[in-house]
Amino acid sequence: CLQQCRTTPMSRTAAYARLLSTLAVLEQREGKLNMSSLAAITAAQKLGGSITGFVAGSNIKSVAEEVAKVEGLEKVLYVENGDYDKGLPENFAPLLVENIKKGAFTHVLAGHSAFGKNLMPRVAALMDSQQISDITDIESEDTFIRPIYAGNAILTVQTADPVKFITVRGTAFAAPEPTTGSAKLEEGADPKAPCPTEWVSEDLAKSDRPDLSTASRVVSGGRGLKSKEEFDKLMPPLADALGAAIGASRAAVDSGFADNSLQVGQTGKNVAPELYLCAGISGAIQHLAGMKDSKVIACINKDGDAPIFQVADVGLIGDLFQLVPEMTEKLNK
Ligand code: FAD
Repeated sequence: CLQQCRTTPMSRTAAYARLLSTLAVLEQREGKLNMSSLAAITAAQKLGGSITGFVAGSNIKSVAEEVAKVEGLEKVLYVENGDYDKGLPENFAPLLVENIKKGAFTHVLAGHSAFGKNLMPRVAALMDSQQISDITDIESEDTFIRPIYAGNAILTVQTADPVKFITVRGTAFAAPEPTTGSAKLEEGADPKAPCPTEWVSEDLAKSDRPDLSTASRVVSGGRGLKSKEEFDKLMPPLADALGAAIGASRAAVDSGFADNSLQVGQTGKNVAPELYLCAGISGAIQHLAGMKDSKVIACINKDGDAPIFQVADVGLIGDLFQLVPEMTEKLNK
């Protein structure tokens, strides 16, 4: 009896793990896979069970083939239809609902990106479930960890919904590289739901620099830069010397020093590079929320009591207008 009592829960767990099946909803733009969206697969791997990737759009088969090379995927569902190119939730949500029902998935995961945030609550609502946002860890198949109040409190969320809809924070689940996987490709169902919204145009900031969200090095400037002219004079050469992406605080963005696509923080982008070097940023909690998971944090600030020093691994107290050009020159040597 003792042996039975001990083994029963374990075998139940094992049996349950086998029943888990996750749909990882992935992003593409103009026929190119968005690598950071693969973080959904990493999170699915942590859950266990079988994993199916999902992509939709025009010329999508080559994207699906690339996804299939990610290790650990069982299958990739793809839907060839240009109506899904822009990821509009009005027709993408019914598309997902159809495929989730058909595949009887227990979990549906997407990145906590504009696409995921736009889409997942709608899909969850259509399936009478509650979506769980921006998870940073997984405790079990029904219990997830997510930060709230700009990362000042950590919430443990348990859900009884039969299908769990979740967006995952990319910086908490490193995206895998498509390498030697050989998942099978399968055409998904296409309900061809009408889309009342028309995509008119988009105006994207173009840059030859590494993508801010995924760069391994980021240099960020704040209000201390004083003007757009100084920001443009000091930050790009420093970024070039380090091969880094450029970020900015909200104060710098609001003051017009930098484009709002560069904002790091609670209402901007989450970054977790190897190196985050910031100048003229005080370290407000809303800024820290977007960068405190960086591996090494370095800062330049003339105020030694600025809160940024509390999270920084290394810091220089001094005038950035002198220190940034000096550092850039030394790095270039
Ligand atoms: P400041 O706080 O003004 O700091 C400027 C720093 O520069 C100071 O520490 C100063 O000592 C230093 N400095 C000045 N001159 C020099 C010099 N010559 N040399 C060296 N150092 C110098 N903020 C974000 O960044 N991202 C967000 O996503 C974000 N979301 C928000 C959401 C909400 C709901 C709210 C309420 C706020 C949000 N904020 C966000 C704003 C945030 O609270 C701060 O106001 C902002 O981060 C401050 O930016 P800053 O550090 O550049 O400016």
